[in-house]
Amino acid sequence: MSQYRNVVCKLLVIGWIFTGSAIAQTEPQRPTQTLLPHVAVLATGGTIAGTGTSETQSTGYKPGVLTADALLKSVPSLGKVAQVSGEQVSNVGSENITNEILLKLAKRINQLLAQPDIAGVVVTHGTDTLEETAYFLNLVVKSDKPVVLTGSMRPSTAISADGPSNILQAVTVAASPTARGRGVMIVLNDRIGSARYTTKTNATTLDTFRSPDDGYLGTLIDNVPHFETAVAKLQTTQTPFDVSKLDSLPEVDIIYGHQNDGGYLYDAAVAHGARGIVVAGVGAGSESLLTLPSIRKAVDKGVIVVRSSRIGNGYIPEDPAYIGLLGDNLNPQKARILLMLALTVTNNPERVQDMLHQF
Ligand code: ASP
Repeated sequence: MSQYRNVVCKLLVIGWIFTGSAIAQTEPQRPTQTLLPHVAVLATGGTIAGTGTSETQSTGYKPGVLTADALLKSVPSLGKVAQVSGEQVSNVGSENITNEILLKLAKRINQLLAQPDIAGVVVTHGTDTLEETAYFLNLVVKSDKPVVLTGSMRPSTAISADGPSNILQAVTVAASPTARGRGVMIVLNDRIGSARYTTKTNATTLDTFRSPDDGYLGTLIDNVPHFETAVAKLQTTQTPFDVSKLDSLPEVDIIYGHQNDGGYLYDAAVAHGARGIVVAGVGAGSESLLTLPSIRKAVDKGVIVVRSSRIGNGYIPEDPAYIGLLGDNLNPQKARILLMLALTVTNNPERVQDMLHQF
């Protein structure tokens, strides 16, 4: 009988140890899993989703092949920083991002950020026009939660492809409470840049995204975001733009200044129905005498003309010799984005000028 009791006791002890150790193995993971922030990743295409035919091919590959799910699967360590869900918004090279895609993307981001369970959003994007989408979102996202754009310079098949580490860094920033209220960000290559000031500066090299005059917002070290600076311009919740009411955007063209240019491109833009024209002028936004009569005609017809610089950096000063509003220090492609949105709320040149300085 006592032998029987001993066996039962031993079994009970073994059972207790076994159950206890089983709980000890699974329990610590449960709170971590549920506490991880939820980041939605919206994929639009680009090199980051592209494939080449060899590990050295980093130009001329096929962009926009991998889906959102495939992109997320390529970074298993994402599960350590966030709960991620993927959605496909488009799958195109960013030269093919249209106003329609911009509006679809912005509306979806605003919907997602309105959900209490979403901590932030990442957009994967081709690098060529990434700064335009980032600045557009910076003006229309109605939330302080982080929105981060990322891409890659090397396709997924390349040796040392930069896509997976850029996705991990972008999701890490989007999941980070310290990234709230900083406007839309561009994260690649360890750098955190603002949508307002970051621009693509080299056609092919990895370190192409820079913020030449105004610096980065911060840096990722060991995958931890360290923030240093903030943007002084108004952004996201501080702008008057409401994409929920928009199905299209007004046509705004950019016309590039150069020696011996003429007015016919301005005439063509007006004839095509442009409501705004951004002059990518030479130097500090200078316009040649050959173009001025056509620019004057455009303004007289109610077209809003904005002077910017083909240099891409520096402020545009007042100069009575030239025609048009001042594009502040926006590069031409970002001035176009702001002018499109400004024209959705006003045709008044003074109000548009204020916006060009404020945002
Ligand atoms: N042409 C590509 C794109 O912008 C380049 C890239 O993603 O790096 O979609």
